[in-house]
Amino acid sequence: MSGDLSQEKVVITAGATREEIDPVRFISNYSSGKMGFALAEIACVRGANVVLIAGATTAEPPAGVRIVRAFSAEAMHRRALEEIAAATIFIAAAAVADYRPVRRANDKIKKSGGNLILELEPTPDILADVSRRRHAQLIVAGFAAETTNVLAHARTKLAGKNLDLIVANNVSEKDSGFGAETSRVTILRRDKENQPLELPLLAKTKVASRILDEILVLRRELFPLDSPSV
Ligand code: C5P
Repeated sequence: MSGDLSQEKVVITAGATREEIDPVRFISNYSSGKMGFALAEIACVRGANVVLIAGATTAEPPAGVRIVRAFSAEAMHRRALEEIAAATIFIAAAAVADYRPVRRANDKIKKSGGNLILELEPTPDILADVSRRRHAQLIVAGFAAETTNVLAHARTKLAGKNLDLIVANNVSEKDSGFGAETSRVTILRRDKENQPLELPLLAKTKVASRILDEILVLRRELFPLDSPSV
């Protein structure tokens, strides 16, 4: 296939994870999957081989993209680590639950009348682990959905998770949060941390295109002569 991403294999996580409490209940969040789906759609249109690892989503998945469902953080973690072996770009757009129940009840938990205490434990950090275990030519990008001190938190995640690039998004802003068709983001590159690229409010497909542009520039700078060999 032709297109400026025709040499890339892109793995994208999208949507919300579900952490089961019992057979009928779970902990989750409002992610629609739209940002990850937009990235998958545009990468595909631009010629990339795309694998979309999606949790629970309310948006329509893009046609023609290979979609793998992984509902829990654990399942998404496993799939992501499998898929990156042959990938050149990894983008974490999923809203992964930070905590899950320590125990999942086999049967529906019954009302007792009193309080119920759920013990939670941290989920694996998919993005941090992908970055830790990446091969030399994998470009790793993530999102920082924040409500305050957006750039400061994004910089901390960029360094803490050892990313090449992070997309910072103020999700409390009107038209720029979960479920919206549009987003206003700032793109931060690890090597140019002090030169944030602030984008105006754009359709998520346009945002996706600008993110992929930046990743491609990065790819060409990091590996100027050779094309990805994985
Ligand atoms: O939740 P947090 O703000 O740390 O998320 C930042 C980035 O890390 C996002 O790109 C998200 O997809 C990713 N992430 C992940 N696994 C987690 C938590 C976050 O891949 N358990």
